[in-house]
Amino acid sequence: MAQRLIVIGGDAAGMAAASQARRRRDRADLEIVAFERGHYTSYSACGIPYWISGLVPEPDALIARDPDTFRGKFQIDVRMRHEVTAIDLDRREVVARDLEGGREIRERFDELVYAAGAVPIKPPFARTDVGGVFGMQTLDDGAALRDWLESEPKPRRAVVVGGGYIGVELAEALILRGLSVTLVEQADQPMATVDGDMAELVADAMTGIGIHIRTGLGVTGLEERDGRISAVVTAEGPIPADVVVLGLGVRPNTELAKAAGLPTGPTGAIRVDRRMRVPDLPGVWAAGDCVECLHRVSGMPVHVPLGTHANKQGRVAGINIGGGYATFAGVIGTAVTKVCDLEVGRTGLREKDAVAAGFEFVSVVAESTNRAVYYPGARTMTVKLIAERPNGRLLGAQIVGWSEAAKRIDALAVALWNGMTVDEMTSLDLGYAPPYAPVWDPVLIAARKAVDALTSSAR
Ligand SMILES: Cc1cc2nc3c(=O)[nH]c(=O)nc-3n(C[C@H](O)[C@H](O)[C@H](O)COP(=O)(O)OP(=O)(O)OC[C@H]3O[C@@H](n4cnc5c(N)ncnc54)[C@H](O)[C@@H]3O)c2cc1C
Repeated sequence: MAQRLIVIGGDAAGMAAASQARRRRDRADLEIVAFERGHYTSYSACGIPYWISGLVPEPDALIARDPDTFRGKFQIDVRMRHEVTAIDLDRREVVARDLEGGREIRERFDELVYAAGAVPIKPPFARTDVGGVFGMQTLDDGAALRDWLESEPKPRRAVVVGGGYIGVELAEALILRGLSVTLVEQADQPMATVDGDMAELVADAMTGIGIHIRTGLGVTGLEERDGRISAVVTAEGPIPADVVVLGLGVRPNTELAKAAGLPTGPTGAIRVDRRMRVPDLPGVWAAGDCVECLHRVSGMPVHVPLGTHANKQGRVAGINIGGGYATFAGVIGTAVTKVCDLEVGRTGLREKDAVAAGFEFVSVVAESTNRAVYYPGARTMTVKLIAERPNGRLLGAQIVGWSEAAKRIDALAVALWNGMTVDEMTSLDLGYAPPYAPVWDPVLIAARKAVDALTSSAR
């Protein structure tokens, strides 16, 4: 009899695992059933802000593979609009509810992949009975926001609560749709994924495109009129709103897993080993936004919910279930985003992470240009490097600038991943031509500055 793989969650991690397992084991050997409670499989949540803004016209463009493709080409039995409500590890069964038919079914498994992702953090004030208040995690969330923006009376005033990268990207999307946008952030800076000095550059760019930023301010409640949002309540008075987007971050979606006895770690996400196996539970795997993993620089477990990791982790789980051998090597926190034309990249540790991890370090900020200064379109690029003291090992990097800024972080990520020192980085053979870089690339200029800082700190 064929073995049975059940996958919970039909997006990046779950379907990467299912597809990889199928590539290695045919249907006679392994039946695969994937449960997805939403309306879509394998979609790019990362593309939602660009669909909201109208840059991407149709949600279909964000779908890499639809359920029929999985059913046909991959012979994966995808059950859409089915929510798994319980996992019985003793009987090796899951219980799922058909959200449209109302029926409850039980399915047995030999192997189980838990890939239920993350859920937006919803503070107590975020009542779900008020129309026009949205969390943002799945394509269904994006569709609900699009519908609201297109319904009558047309919303004109948006408040985005929280200034993480999802909040910032959605604030930009709403500005591009012609709404007036206020971003309210409890901390003293938006974009907490970079240090305060770099976040200031991002905040300036946001203000420059018309986003009102209110930092150091918490939202404490919502006001409604006739069941529709009318304002968010803050200590400095109400801010009128016809639509509210919550960008307060996400938490791992682990309730179901915890109820079944899957272990969670210090971050609250599911613990897995390098092969994405859940410890001490043979045949149980987890991947994506619901798991924690190793930060290669701090050595600490971290929860970094990003699509790039979800896809890789799902692939690793699938290869292993298929009988191969693969491991997930951990993360260094590389991420990129943009505010209109301003690009932001980061990798490794911020200053506060380096302090928390107990490192001695220097940090430098170097300003140069993205192109040769005489080449049309040359603009400022700011590179920050954090290097361990006294050995000079790169611990973290951040870049804010115009074109060619964001993906430059990849060179720094490779250097950091491989444990390079800033001194070694000064000799890196990086590409140069006037349309793409000054003769001393901004990365090299920053590395030289870091070497100088290390030398002075040693005196
Ligand atoms: C607006 C936005 C922008 C983003 N931009 C980027 C970016 O630029 N770069 C980047 O790397 N990452 C980005 N991300 C993050 C990225 O989308 C996620 O890290 C990735 O989707 C995680 O994949 P996953 O499969 O682990 O979880 P998810 O994509 O959340 O998929 C989990 C699936 O499980 C389903 N599910 C949950 N519980 C159950 C259940 N009980 N039964 C059945 N189904 C269930 C859910 O409906 C969901 O479809 C962005 C996310 C958002 C929301």
